[in-house]
Amino acid sequence: MTTKQNFGDNVWLDGQIVPTDEAQISVMSHALHYGSSAYEGIRIYGYKPFKLDEHLERLFYSAKVIGLEIKTSPSDVKKACLELIKINNVENGYMRPLVWRGKGENMVIGGSSCPIHLLISAWSSFEDKRKEFRKNGLRLCISSWRKPPKESSPCAAKVASIYTISTMVKNEAESMGFDDAIMLDMHGNLTEISTSNIFFIKNRELITPLADCFLNGITRQTIIKEVAPNLGAYTREMLMHLKDIENFDSAFVSGTAAEIVPISSIHYEGKVKEFNIDHDLLKELMVSFHKLASMGKS
Ligand code: PMP
Repeated sequence: MTTKQNFGDNVWLDGQIVPTDEAQISVMSHALHYGSSAYEGIRIYGYKPFKLDEHLERLFYSAKVIGLEIKTSPSDVKKACLELIKINNVENGYMRPLVWRGKGENMVIGGSSCPIHLLISAWSSFEDKRKEFRKNGLRLCISSWRKPPKESSPCAAKVASIYTISTMVKNEAESMGFDDAIMLDMHGNLTEISTSNIFFIKNRELITPLADCFLNGITRQTIIKEVAPNLGAYTREMLMHLKDIENFDSAFVSGTAAEIVPISSIHYEGKVKEFNIDHDLLKELMVSFHKLASMGKS
């Protein structure tokens, strides 16, 4: 069951703190019609946003890729994020900066006359379904939707329009009784699930698809560069195919909201591969990642 969320009492909107229920935008916003927005999802642990600088760097990059110039400086956006956490009293939760093209003089695709807006929201989050997934693992299938090649979509950017595909992937998987689905790229290589990266484990080695046409998540990078090496485990990033799946002992997904969640099974080509959700390295990674994130390093 998913608990209804209270999105925090206030938001930061274009430099002002505004009660969340009173914040308004135009129905003629370019972003609503054409998907011209970019955003970040950041976890707050003990009043501190984890990897805030990295997330804000990605926000500015994502905005730039789709031609949105954020007028507020990165250091002022950072200050605003920290201020809002205090104002909304978010000890443990989630934070979402969002930048978009608003209402312009005409409704045209280029949107050059549209003002650029910036919203920051922060709220205390609920664990509900994620706790269950962490305990029982995810049942995945293979999506009928493919990841667009990097020449066709800004895959390293977190831009809202790409998430239309993630929404279709997730809804299709759920309608078939699965929790989520792995997308293949146009060549049949494994990529990621709707909103998380994937890893496989063989003995004490991690293997993960090469992030050449999908988001190289901040959690993914933290696992590869910090968490796994501290446990004496190393990661191989490579092109992976469906036929590789049967070789692994264990598997998991990674992302800011979910941290690390085991995969219990992958259903593909009429077969089912079951994974060990109690694998020692997987458990160590889950504990170590959470410890690192909640240590107060922002
Ligand atoms: N892939 C997609 C499509 C995502 O939306 C996310 C979540 N931001 C991830 C991967 C994981 O990225 P991160 O670890 O930076 O949250």
